[in-house]
Amino acid sequence: MVADRRRGSAAHVRRWPGHTITYTESIPAKWDWSLQRALTAWNTAGGHLSFVPVKKGRRPQLVIGFGDTHGADGYASIGPAPHAFVHLSPGYRKAPDTAGLKVWVGRLFTHELGHVVGFEHTAGTCSLMVAVFDTGACPLLDDQPGYYACRWIDKPLLKRFVGAYGGKARQAAKSCLIDPLPDQLVGPQFTAAPGGPVTFRWSAPPSAPPRSKVHLEVWPGSTCAGDPPRDVDVQLPLGAGTWTDPSDGTGGPHCFRAQVVNQYGAGPAPVVTVLDRFQRPVAPPSVAAGAWNPDEGRWAFTASWSADTLLVAYISTADPASCPAVEAAGTFQMTFGHGSALFVPALGPEECVVFVARSAAGVSSAAVPLHLQAPRPPAPVVGTPVYDAGTDTWSVSVAPVAGLTPVAEVRAGACSSPAPANLTFPESPDFFSASPGPSCVYVALADFTFAAWFGPVVSRGFTQPSA
Ligand SMILES: [Zn+2]
Repeated sequence: MVADRRRGSAAHVRRWPGHTITYTESIPAKWDWSLQRALTAWNTAGGHLSFVPVKKGRRPQLVIGFGDTHGADGYASIGPAPHAFVHLSPGYRKAPDTAGLKVWVGRLFTHELGHVVGFEHTAGTCSLMVAVFDTGACPLLDDQPGYYACRWIDKPLLKRFVGAYGGKARQAAKSCLIDPLPDQLVGPQFTAAPGGPVTFRWSAPPSAPPRSKVHLEVWPGSTCAGDPPRDVDVQLPLGAGTWTDPSDGTGGPHCFRAQVVNQYGAGPAPVVTVLDRFQRPVAPPSVAAGAWNPDEGRWAFTASWSADTLLVAYISTADPASCPAVEAAGTFQMTFGHGSALFVPALGPEECVVFVARSAAGVSSAAVPLHLQAPRPPAPVVGTPVYDAGTDTWSVSVAPVAGLTPVAEVRAGACSSPAPANLTFPESPDFFSASPGPSCVYVALADFTFAAWFGPVVSRGFTQPSA
């Protein structure tokens, strides 16, 4: 930032006669803070020289206003001059009065008033009278919110000032408030009602600068130490008087912190307390089995669950028939939003799906199990085995059933009843062969969605001719 482009002798001070410089100013209200802090910086520096507003009807010695700055941010006459002036660049008419710019313009006015007092430019990185101000090396604001680095008139300059005008140098504080501190809140109190959210109640402070607010923060922890990420970070109007935790949180101890702050973030000591944060319960979903879809190997289901939550399903991959614990290892998981197609994959002919509704904060409802059972394939309708002498093979007709596959196994000897328990059905009823003599073909309908999921077995005896 460029104060101005004055050139001259650094050593020489062009001293005003007398102990006052009368001034008039036409700076708009938004830069009043900056100008007043600049005038005060000089008026409280301990020298026998003060800037005073000109009395009504009298001609001022100094005129402060927007004006030509030769391309810099400010410009001023040096020392006693018939028409002494301080100009602020007209670019500042539209500039926002952020904390940083307010402080910068204040420092700029202090610099320009330094010229009026009689100083030329000097060297020194953070000196007031350097031509180009290095905001990187000399920060304008303090680390503490709402404070600024206010020792604008550096020590060497202060010495030259009292040397020229007399008096006793008074160094400004290092750090100053931008706005005054608000008064403390009246009767602030966090309360945790059993089974309900934490509330904060207070009355507005007796006095607070404009745009002061209540800054309320919540974060997880059993102490209020450190600076972890906030779950809640809100600004509340001073007069609101009450705040209720929206508490879509995960419960457990949390630090609740409230502080009245001015618009720049400075305030008296915060109110801090550790309380268990209310966990808004999530209602369990309601679920019902829908149609079994053997073609797609999945179940449809119907469900209703509360708005603002997701429906989450768990199925054990190792043992689909048993109901898994929510989030247990080895579970298959599916998440459904409102409007999702509702189905779960069939991992076994018998399956237990465990459902929960879950809030965005990760709070789960009680688990709701849903038992699903694929219908067992029906008994096949089987014809009489037919021999084809050309190929020396057999076939047997099986009435088709949608989604199911007829399977067969041939064993030598007469048919046994009941059918053997260890049938694996490696053959097709359309094409099978046998050893000479009596044999039995066992036929079933299989659902190939699952391994070894067969319906009741129908047997047909036949006799393979000798070769
Ligand atoms: Zn200058």
